[in-house]
Amino acid sequence: MTVNLKSFFSFRAYFYALPMTKKFSFLFLFLSFTFYAQLQSPSDFLGYELGTEFTRHAEVVAYFEHVAKESPNVIYKDYGKTYERRRLTYAIVSSQENLQHLEAIRTDNLKNAGLISGTSQPEKTIVWLSYNVHGNEASCSEAAMNTVYKLITEHPEYLKDVIVIMDPGVNPDGRDRYVHWYNQIRAIPYNASQDAAEHHEPWPAGRPNHYLFDLNRDWVWASQIETQQRLKIYNQWMPHIHVDFHEQFINNPYYFAPGAEPYHEMLTPWQRDFQHTIGKNNAKYFDLNGWLYFTRESFDLLYPSYGDTYPLFNGAIGMTYEQAGHGMAGLGIINDEDIELTLVDRIAHHTTTGLSTIEVASKNVERLNDEFRAFFKNDKLKYKSFILQGNPDHIKALTEILDRQEIKYGFLSKGKVKGFNYKTGKNGTIDVLNALVIDTDQPKGKMVHVLFEPQTHLTTPLTYDITAWSLPYAFGLDGIASTTKVSANDSSEIYSEIQPDARAAGYISKWNSVQDAQFLTALLQNGIKVRFSENELSFGGNEFGRGSLIITRSDNKTNENFDQQLIQIANKYKRKLYASPTSYADVLTDFGSQYVHLLKNKKVAILMGEGISSLNYGQLWHFFEKELKYPFTAINTRNINQIHWTDYDVLILPDGNYTFVTEEVFADIDRWIAGGGRVIALQNALSLFNEKDGFELQKNNVDEDDEGEKSKEGNLTPYAEREMHGTKNFITGSIFKIKLDTTHPLAFGLNEDYYSLKLGSDSYKFLKEGYNVGYIKGDAQVVSGFAGEDAKEKLKNSIVFAEAKKGKGSVIYLVDDVLFRTFWQNGKLILVNSVFMTPKDF
Ligand SMILES: [Zn+2]
Repeated sequence: MTVNLKSFFSFRAYFYALPMTKKFSFLFLFLSFTFYAQLQSPSDFLGYELGTEFTRHAEVVAYFEHVAKESPNVIYKDYGKTYERRRLTYAIVSSQENLQHLEAIRTDNLKNAGLISGTSQPEKTIVWLSYNVHGNEASCSEAAMNTVYKLITEHPEYLKDVIVIMDPGVNPDGRDRYVHWYNQIRAIPYNASQDAAEHHEPWPAGRPNHYLFDLNRDWVWASQIETQQRLKIYNQWMPHIHVDFHEQFINNPYYFAPGAEPYHEMLTPWQRDFQHTIGKNNAKYFDLNGWLYFTRESFDLLYPSYGDTYPLFNGAIGMTYEQAGHGMAGLGIINDEDIELTLVDRIAHHTTTGLSTIEVASKNVERLNDEFRAFFKNDKLKYKSFILQGNPDHIKALTEILDRQEIKYGFLSKGKVKGFNYKTGKNGTIDVLNALVIDTDQPKGKMVHVLFEPQTHLTTPLTYDITAWSLPYAFGLDGIASTTKVSANDSSEIYSEIQPDARAAGYISKWNSVQDAQFLTALLQNGIKVRFSENELSFGGNEFGRGSLIITRSDNKTNENFDQQLIQIANKYKRKLYASPTSYADVLTDFGSQYVHLLKNKKVAILMGEGISSLNYGQLWHFFEKELKYPFTAINTRNINQIHWTDYDVLILPDGNYTFVTEEVFADIDRWIAGGGRVIALQNALSLFNEKDGFELQKNNVDEDDEGEKSKEGNLTPYAEREMHGTKNFITGSIFKIKLDTTHPLAFGLNEDYYSLKLGSDSYKFLKEGYNVGYIKGDAQVVSGFAGEDAKEKLKNSIVFAEAKKGKGSVIYLVDDVLFRTFWQNGKLILVNSVFMTPKDF
């Protein structure tokens, strides 16, 4: 809402001279004329019929700016920028009356939930519509423009009691990647044949954001800048209803709520019921138009980091709406049922459900507010407190997530706590020291419970995503889930800056976190020489674990500012250094020992492009660039036969389908490894080395005899039970407790017990000659999530992390994802170790 001030003031003198009755009729005329006369439909504004072209993000923003300028019902704001500097925006749409009292309406809602103090009786409801979180589901932002226009011109009655917040583009970088590509390649008129190039996006496609993250999996971890900035606004508003607009494959009828099982048990009966109310209203309009739809069969409500579950765990009715379309559909395509699916139709459907949802909200204001208030009463939750201790850097990283979620926490300086022990998997009592305490007795208590409970209750394992994410395991922390409230009595430790010590022969720094690794890469890039010890160290009565960093004066004697520079970097990364006056250790090992090695500035290459999992490459890219802050060379798989291999020390092969590697290329890689190169193969990249000479890798297949028995019996599984029967082979993202050999450099800085997220049942035998660093010996131990019996059987005696030597080099096998969506904090150091921790004779 903007008003041209100059014309407004000249008009004002005239207006005050009028008699009262004239004033009113003039006022009405003034408002309706001045504000609406210029308001254009999306088609008029854009200069083409909506749905006949794809609209670039900047044009979508321009349209919303236009609407805000010309309509008194719309306020439009920026909430940030993407990695590629595109604007992140939201519109607030409501009656003029409401917009004048917006701040009171907003704070009344937060008071109602108990998120800020005070009492309130809210009489308005808040609906949040998110569009185009997946960039190539491109009808969504088009529908956003159509929806805002129709809402203010055709349905102003909905706005009397509803505040609608619209984010027309959650992922503008992804959307523009799709739209620019499509506009370049399309035929005019468009070609509806599935064979046409315009229906086949190139790698990495428009779905993810700049760093190739799926933003619809990032709501809780908020690792991406788009999510981080959006959550600040989300938390200011806390809507009662949230819709995340998506697209699915071209043959599917429209999908709207209710969602499918499994529903997380934290969802209230009301949240389940009201999905029907909304679904039936949508159905009414779809039936009227003769549009096909389905409900309840897919899109479950379990994993908490989606655009439907995240709002649900924050008290809202969270829903996903799915239109047929996505990156394949273009402006029009003939689907497998011989029906032409057009962008015009896709927009019409998403516009209809958006408006229908607002209509439902407008008719259920009191109920929505009452139930919203009730949701935030958390007196019946099983666990009252989670008390966690261990690696302080991991605790810090965890509190950063809690801060983004505006979840409160404290610390317990010392005490005994009892309850479910994450480490033993049983009830017990432990002593704690400087432990993190998170209570469920706070407005966001349900979300706390969902994130920290040891085991997620599942009604069925047939889910769309992982079944376990319990954060103590992901962060490698010990602790207790307590059914009684444990009070915090402290705040977090404050880092006190350290000073240079000119008498030091060298400084020692611990090695057990990504923060330590950030410190290392900063030192290396500032030309400071660093060593690491493969033995434990003892200096001046202090003990340091394997992998600890040693920065000696003798290595850095040509650097005149050695102490100052080192200490400055240490303070920046809040690292405590021990300054040793001598290189002579209390007990072996001295600084000059053969077990203390110089760390090198490794030249790292990572493969990307066709054949590589874009998500997996993206999280490596993000990790190196944003967390480790260490350069690497991205090499496109297209150019793999032109690489100057000797330019690199380390080659990382992300998860992917490696059939593109020819025998010649494999021979090049083989030679380079034998000459001293190191490959780090992640997940399915291991297949490249399976049963290849000298790489020791062999898949664990199910016992041949068993298979024989089964085939003799024949398949007697009833047809209707085929889906459930299939779950015996499933692992849907579950957490396994495995053993680490912490004397091997790959596991330096970690604990012997490691919690690994398994995304599938791929299983490899123990290496005969190489090092089995992380492994499952005997039965696989699942601590959280679902794993089918057959899948567990297959994982008996298998490697999780290993190293095979080849000539002067080696291959590191990482069977499981060590970064998963960047929240698997505990695994990150394994990747860092793989890159940097290489002893001379390693
Ligand atoms: Zn989607």
